[in-house]
Amino acid sequence: AATATAATGSAPSPTKKRAARSGKPVMPTCPPVVLDENRTEWVPKAVLGQGGFARVFHMLGPNGEEKAFKCINKDAVKDSKSTRAKLLAEIMIHKSMNHPNIVGFEEAFEDEANVYFRLELCSGGSMNDILKRRGAYSEPETRFFMIQILAGCQNMHINSVIHRDLKLGNIFLDSGMNVKIGDFGLAALLKFREERKKTKCGTPNYIAPEVIEDPNHEGHSFEVDVWSVGVILYTLLVGSTPFQMKEVDLIYEKIKTNKYSIPDSARISQEGRELIKKILAHNPAERPTLIEIMNDPWFTCGPVPPYVPASATAGTPHDM
Ligand code: ADP
Repeated sequence: AATATAATGSAPSPTKKRAARSGKPVMPTCPPVVLDENRTEWVPKAVLGQGGFARVFHMLGPNGEEKAFKCINKDAVKDSKSTRAKLLAEIMIHKSMNHPNIVGFEEAFEDEANVYFRLELCSGGSMNDILKRRGAYSEPETRFFMIQILAGCQNMHINSVIHRDLKLGNIFLDSGMNVKIGDFGLAALLKFREERKKTKCGTPNYIAPEVIEDPNHEGHSFEVDVWSVGVILYTLLVGSTPFQMKEVDLIYEKIKTNKYSIPDSARISQEGRELIKKILAHNPAERPTLIEIMNDPWFTCGPVPPYVPASATAGTPHDM
């Protein structure tokens, strides 16, 4: 089941005015019925989660279809040209993606109050929420999920898209325990494959060292996603992120100096430890490619389950 709270109706005025005055983003409320671009009626069932500007609702269609609607209040974006541009870029990039391990983006449309993205529903919720509930994954389960994370990421890279915010909070599971990578809010579409990006962005625990510190202004590229894949692998196996600290500056210091350790108590195979080390190479040129990661001995030194049961969102299955 999704990590859902009750759906909110529309009672925007006082909160909305306060939020606007305080400069905080105005969170959207969902009307009791939303009409999409085909005039199909959708009814909110629950709130699935929320991010910077957006709130994501579980919606029901007229024939029982279930979707996730990402809603953004227009007031939150109307005063900033750059926020509007980022929203359009997210729509353009996410809509162009089509892969079984990437959250399906069906359409973007608007009504008077909000912009909506109609997305494939991932009722298992985010892998971060699942990890918090149940702790680290076993190596066979991690292989199962990593194969799909790598496949989704490889598809983006083939299409010249760098995600730039890969993290367990942006990786979802559908009802069949299939991995779906979402949130293209920081993604970049390269004009040519050798283009370098300069914008410092990402999430502290998952951010690559060349994004934090770039003294020669060389910029970054696909390798930043490979780094995040390394942080994801570590986090799935250990149960916490490798550079975890309370303050962002201290996290950055650890990332820049490559200071992390894999606890002995984590009972991770030698192959697993070595793969983490290979991926978390400080120098982006020394990191393996996604294909090299897929071909790493870690994937064949132990079992890969053909499927992971839905009960694995609550705890490690007994036979894994
Ligand atoms: P933001 O870009 O504002 O961070 P996200 O796209 O990450 O917003 O979504 C915020 C939260 O909504 C996620 O953490 C997740 O809990 C939920 N969510 C997002 N997309 C889906 C989806 N397709 N299916 C189910 N839940 C989703």
